[in-house]
Amino acid sequence: LTSRLKDPSLALDKALVGGEWIARAESGKTFDVTNPATGEVIATLPDVGKVELVRAIDAAHAAQKAWAKKTGKERAAVLRKLFDLMVANADDLATILTIEMGKPWAEARGEILYGASYVEWFGEEAKRVYGDTIPGHQADKRIIVVKQPVGVVGAITPWNFPNAMLARKMAPAIAVGCTMVSKPASQTPLSALALALLAERAGVPAGVFSVVTAIDAAMVGQEFCANDKVRKVTFTGSTNVGRILMRQGADQIKKLGLELGGNAPFIVFDDADLDAAVEGAMISKYRNNGQTCVCANRLYVQSGVYDAFADKLAAKVAQMKVGNGMEEGVTTGPLIDENAVRKVKEHITDAVSKGAKVALGGEPSPLGGLFFQPTILSGVTSDMMVATEETFGPVAPLFRFDTEDEVIAMANNTEFGLASYFYSKDVAKIFRVAEQLEYGMVGINTGLISTEVAPFGGIKQSGIGREGSKYGIEDYTEIKYLCLGGI
Ligand code: ADP
Repeated sequence: LTSRLKDPSLALDKALVGGEWIARAESGKTFDVTNPATGEVIATLPDVGKVELVRAIDAAHAAQKAWAKKTGKERAAVLRKLFDLMVANADDLATILTIEMGKPWAEARGEILYGASYVEWFGEEAKRVYGDTIPGHQADKRIIVVKQPVGVVGAITPWNFPNAMLARKMAPAIAVGCTMVSKPASQTPLSALALALLAERAGVPAGVFSVVTAIDAAMVGQEFCANDKVRKVTFTGSTNVGRILMRQGADQIKKLGLELGGNAPFIVFDDADLDAAVEGAMISKYRNNGQTCVCANRLYVQSGVYDAFADKLAAKVAQMKVGNGMEEGVTTGPLIDENAVRKVKEHITDAVSKGAKVALGGEPSPLGGLFFQPTILSGVTSDMMVATEETFGPVAPLFRFDTEDEVIAMANNTEFGLASYFYSKDVAKIFRVAEQLEYGMVGINTGLISTEVAPFGGIKQSGIGREGSKYGIEDYTEIKYLCLGGI
């Protein structure tokens, strides 16, 4: 890995615990990080335990008051510097990301710039954490509302966006004067460590941001919830783990930020611009090899355009190139691990056994390993697994529908409520459908909705809170109201 980097020091094999880079856990345990495209071990990291985790939390607690005392402008200057460093090192950060996670290098570079955009945005927002003054309820009273940082935040992040999912938690936290202990997914810790090194270089003080590399995620989640120095737990990952954290957090009424699973419907109405819909489906379905929580999981196509849409989509998908993300021209990397491959296979087998047809792909790629062919299933119905579960892979299941009411009912028939998409040119229908979809985000005539300026998040069992935008910073603040009497 180091030989491929302009700055080899960005490839780290140490954890950052309370301002100290540690090469060895007290337990002496280690774990390997592998390249999913080749199976090669690319790093061996200390598998830190509770001792180091508690040390990181203590350091975050000790550092928090001084960090919060700085002005918003001072914290903004540090975040601006971090943004500049991320952009300046984007090529190296992308290489690290592709080698540990598998996505094509250009897509990885896009993720780095996307992650950096949150650092830029929240740095700017650091200066604008406004309160209120409220007219007093009695003649001698004055009321002032201030917003203060929550305190120490514990963050747990997934492997599908190893940089951006962490950047969009650490940036708002640090911007408002919180400190953070983070645990990246054990499959992809190197991007988080590189981010931490750049944060250190940008002037983030010791203890303000730690990255603990641990295999035992449950131990980390339990400690975050049980340690009263941690005031908020922010998590991006599966709904199941979100439930566990919420249960564990109950004892201390822990503040929670949860970005959980989705089961995004992607609806194409008869009056849609079909080429635009195909373009949107390609981005929304196949980006990151289908491994995003906002990926189209169910494609509902109205009868009048079903065959035409299926043909156009198949023509585009047939042009995708599967391979090692470091190779030129590759559009689709490997899946993250064997479990992911198993789930994709299971969803396809289940659909086919219940009458769906494989219109394209449907098999592991001839490249072997964790590579899978981009797949389209037609004639999919609501009784199949793909209708209710997140596939998290390159499978586009096409459902046929006739009426607007029918498709809205099908789209909403899930416990999830993260992203949704639809294509139509009829303004009245656009408002009708958008207002009825029970989702935190609705992409209308677009398959790409993620941006640092908008609130990302879900309703129902897809989560709590928002990331990005002016709303995203609120999640790291507490409201305090001052009542002045005797005036
Ligand atoms: P996925 O791997 O499917 O994205 P997970 O929810 O399993 O979803 O993983 C997301 C993050 O949650 C990872 O960092 C993982 O290590 C962590 N995690 C897994 N199980 C637990 C748990 N019981 N408590 C806290 N974190 C967990």
